[in-house]
Amino acid sequence: MSSQWIYMSGEFVDKSEAVVSVYDHGFLYGDGVFEGIRVYEGNVFKLEEHLNRLFDSAKSIMLQVPYEKEELEEIIVETVRRNQLETAYIRVVVSRGAGNLGLDPSSCSNPRVVVIAEALALFPKELYERGVRLASVSSRRNRPDVLPPQVKSLNYLNNILVKMEANQAGVDEALMMNDQGYVTEGSADNIFIIKNGTILTPPTYLGALEGITRNAIIDLAREKGYEVKEQPFTRHDVYVADEVFLTGTAAEVIAVVEVDQREVGDGKPGAVTSHLLSEFRKITTTDGVKVNPQESKAQVS
Ligand code: PMP
Repeated sequence: MSSQWIYMSGEFVDKSEAVVSVYDHGFLYGDGVFEGIRVYEGNVFKLEEHLNRLFDSAKSIMLQVPYEKEELEEIIVETVRRNQLETAYIRVVVSRGAGNLGLDPSSCSNPRVVVIAEALALFPKELYERGVRLASVSSRRNRPDVLPPQVKSLNYLNNILVKMEANQAGVDEALMMNDQGYVTEGSADNIFIIKNGTILTPPTYLGALEGITRNAIIDLAREKGYEVKEQPFTRHDVYVADEVFLTGTAAEVIAVVEVDQREVGDGKPGAVTSHLLSEFRKITTTDGVKVNPQESKAQVS
């Protein structure tokens, strides 16, 4: 087994030594932000968009990322390079760092930056062919005025609770509403429905992360001539949609074939969903930042 190198605030360490303090407020309070990024054949997909979202999330919670965007970009690329990965999943975490036991972040003087890159276990091909099943869950999405869902924070309990509800219902993913009953997203993916040729996705202010895949699909669909609207809709609209699909870094574009035991369309992945998945896959190896195996610019030890 070759070793796995993990970037930990200024140095690369072996996975077995990649540990953080129990006083880190990321551990104690979920105080921090993160990104999940994918590498397709040496292309770090939409890296700039992920960095922008990370820095925006950090700004929103007044967490100072101790690097410029360009520096962090190099560190991320170098992590992929050092681990000799072609197809990978990257996790970038910026936590408030170690402080005292009180929740006040002013005791944390050194935000911690961790970058993990590992070989990616792809979703099985059958899942794209069969589609996934959803169940609506009772836990509501955080209200945007409580914890803005656009902030990709380390506080994922809301999402974890709905994932557990989906597991208990014996389905693949949760359909999460906000406190007014409008559809928001899944536990870790955005949702789209298609009705009479129009593609709809909830506006993020209702309670959804502004997914990088979501935005890519909106752009691609419009380029291909589909009408796309960011518009509120309810569970009923999902039940009667012609097609439903989820988007996310891990899931890419995946058809939903059943919601609360109601078949979506004819119970098979729809034509528009399949078209968008194939168009999406075309940009995954070109749109982003290339990992050049020879060239290392990151200032790390
Ligand atoms: N919503 C939530 C809550 C998520 O965690 C994710 C995964 N990052 C998404 C949506 C999909 O976003 P993206 O396309 O940027 O992966």
